[in-house]
Amino acid sequence: MTTESVDVLVIGAGPSGCVSASYLYNNGVSVKVVEKTKFPRLVVGESLIPRVMDHFDEVGLFPALDAMNFEKKLGARFIRGEEICVFDFSDKYSEGWDWTWQVPRADFDNTLAQEVLKKGIDLEFESEVISVSFEGKNSTTVIKDKEGNLKEIKAKFIIDSSGYGRVLPRLLDLDTPSKLDPHSSIFTHVKDVNRPEGEEGTLISFDILETEVWLWVIPFSNGNTSLGVVGPTTFINSLSDKNNADALKNAIQLSDYYIKRFGNVDFLFEPVKLENYSRSVKKMYGDGFALTGNSSEFLDPVFSSGVAFATESGILAAKLIHKEFKGETVDWETEFTGYMKRGIGVFTTYVKEWYTGNLQTLFFHQPENPDVKRKICAVLAGYVWDDTNPFVKKHDNVIKNMAHMINMEKEA
Ligand code: FAD
Repeated sequence: MTTESVDVLVIGAGPSGCVSASYLYNNGVSVKVVEKTKFPRLVVGESLIPRVMDHFDEVGLFPALDAMNFEKKLGARFIRGEEICVFDFSDKYSEGWDWTWQVPRADFDNTLAQEVLKKGIDLEFESEVISVSFEGKNSTTVIKDKEGNLKEIKAKFIIDSSGYGRVLPRLLDLDTPSKLDPHSSIFTHVKDVNRPEGEEGTLISFDILETEVWLWVIPFSNGNTSLGVVGPTTFINSLSDKNNADALKNAIQLSDYYIKRFGNVDFLFEPVKLENYSRSVKKMYGDGFALTGNSSEFLDPVFSSGVAFATESGILAAKLIHKEFKGETVDWETEFTGYMKRGIGVFTTYVKEWYTGNLQTLFFHQPENPDVKRKICAVLAGYVWDDTNPFVKKHDNVIKNMAHMINMEKEA
């Protein structure tokens, strides 16, 4: 077996891995990325939020992505029967980007990975991590290539950004149940042959079919659109006793808004079911490793926060490793877990309050309160560390209390 040595080994070349590897490389740290699959590969997570742009910009990955002409996402539309609520990212409380993209992830992630290679970073595709052992902070990782050849990689630090591969959570027994109720999803892409002209055709939308069940519609600039249904696992499993395609077709039938556009379109691939998708871990770091992106925590697709958290944690882990390598002390509990948990805590509340219906009460309340909307919009854009925003700082009770007041008014 051959042996290589590197300062930092990154597992997985998704957005989290590409951003952390780029940051380290840009700062002169020796880094290697190993990726199990061959890109492009299918992955879910196509609606981004503006916060993610800060990360791509900071590590120099923005220009390559921008050149791809992905569909611009300027906000998000929520539909409930006849009611419509549109958030415009240019009208939000916090400073920050006021647009992002909606992307076919196969192309998007491939662009990121190719750019990482162009920088000169050592990225090996079709190399799967099969074991990791630690001696203090130093690790030895065994990877297997597609021919079955094994190689050892010695590293001073591992960033595990293996997404649902969850390499270190599995090997080190770090998985713990999510605090969220079990929800599942079925999704595919369609050739959007009935796409209307203009904004309506390209607007990203979330159509509420029942309080806890919603359909996503994510149009891409290549003429295809991603369609997915999300809801409690029991509901998703009850959609069909045949197959995923039948289940998704049945879900589309429940959408008054989209039935005409998507009722008869062909699916571009057999719809994929992601069952009980939320994930959590007992700890996000340890001696010689950090977990980033979906390998640590995944909440729910409803506010499209997954990729932004993947890049937020990826870049933060890289910064802290760089700091430690320079001989400075890092308090991983505060600077990594504490920071990430603050943002995760805010989105956890929003996800929970979405499914209780309280957030929907605020979204669709008329007349709109522009101040409340701007503050919620900043959260939806991913600026969840801005404590001057009461919808961040008091997330625990502000939504619940406001929804309660609206409901009392309605009853009076
Ligand atoms: P990934 O993008 O999953 O990349 C991990 C990589 O690690 C993969 O390429 C994998 O092949 C590789 N890997 C795995 N195991 C190994 C191994 N043993 N060795 C080497 N490599 C390995 N997020 C959004 O932002 N917007 C959305 O609209 C959205 N919708 C979603 C809908 C659903 C139903 C679900 C379940 C999630 C959704 N997400 C969304 C979340 C999003 O998919 C993830 O948060 C995001 O892809 C995480 O990025 P990552 O880099 O951590 O992992």
